[in-house]
Amino acid sequence: MKILQTNASLKICATCILPETIPGITFDDQGICSHCHREKAALAKAPKKKREYREHLDQLIGEVKDKAPLYDAIMAYSGGKDSSYTLKLLRDHYDLRVVALTFDNHFMSPAALENIRKVTDQLQIDHILFRPPWSILGELFCRTAKEDIFPAPTLLRASAICTACIGLVKSLVLKTALEMAIPLVAFGWSPGQAPIQSAIMRTNAALIRQNQAVFKKAFPAEFNSGMKQYFIPDVYYERDKEHFPYNIHPLAFFDYDEEKILHELKNLGWEAPLDTDTNSTNCLLNAFANQVHLRRHGFHPYVLEIANMVRQGVMSRGDGIEKIYTEQNQKMVDFARGKLGL
Ligand SMILES: [Zn+2]
Repeated sequence: MKILQTNASLKICATCILPETIPGITFDDQGICSHCHREKAALAKAPKKKREYREHLDQLIGEVKDKAPLYDAIMAYSGGKDSSYTLKLLRDHYDLRVVALTFDNHFMSPAALENIRKVTDQLQIDHILFRPPWSILGELFCRTAKEDIFPAPTLLRASAICTACIGLVKSLVLKTALEMAIPLVAFGWSPGQAPIQSAIMRTNAALIRQNQAVFKKAFPAEFNSGMKQYFIPDVYYERDKEHFPYNIHPLAFFDYDEEKILHELKNLGWEAPLDTDTNSTNCLLNAFANQVHLRRHGFHPYVLEIANMVRQGVMSRGDGIEKIYTEQNQKMVDFARGKLGL
């Protein structure tokens, strides 16, 4: 593994790992970045906030559990470490009736599929594998790799390819929740990936409608009309907003200890895939998506997320630097590029 020389040319924060190439970032004379200064107050309040959110989730689960006809929760399940662990929490800790939905983007690592089979069997969870045809996804990813189609703020936290893929995942789990009247939609965002403020939230139907319109508008009409079955039909927006489920991502407020997580997952038969990059334990497109983003924007699409984890103390700075400033695995980049015909 080759670590890029970060000290020679690129300035990075002395406390977290953010580089000077992040738009708007500044550094004090100790080399500490403006994001670290901004986060200080929130970090001090984090333990109290986490306790409040755990109580809030206990209360919400008390209200919805066993009330819906089919399931209490639907989980957006990638087969990666964080979503597998979240699934275990919902099932073992909360004893919920859960259905897991996996979006197969045609780049799922075979090891991730194997992990999904083992974990859902072990936890006795119904599983839906949703796989749009390659004719649609291949074109979606090619268009996303070639042009800047999403607004710049979205691309601070994820590559354009990831944004497109996650957009479909979110849409499909929400659509399934609405169709099956499931009250909770769960995601396995790690503590750095999504802020605690959004960790328990009723789906904002108007915002979803607006986001879906932006997504659709990014592509030509003749292309996105072929994807309309993946979006929320208008009829759902016209219903009472009480029909919309709550979004939860419990890892934001549970103690996050990667070693403990890996140990518990091992007991379910989950094994760390050897065939993925340093930031994803399930997707073979990720390395290519990261490289496109790095070349286009000058910073790694995971850097804000990993910097948050370093600041929160759930990842060491050294591990963070290795995850972000290691060159993308060229074999994986070439594999994805070849499959997309780029
Ligand atoms: Zn910093």
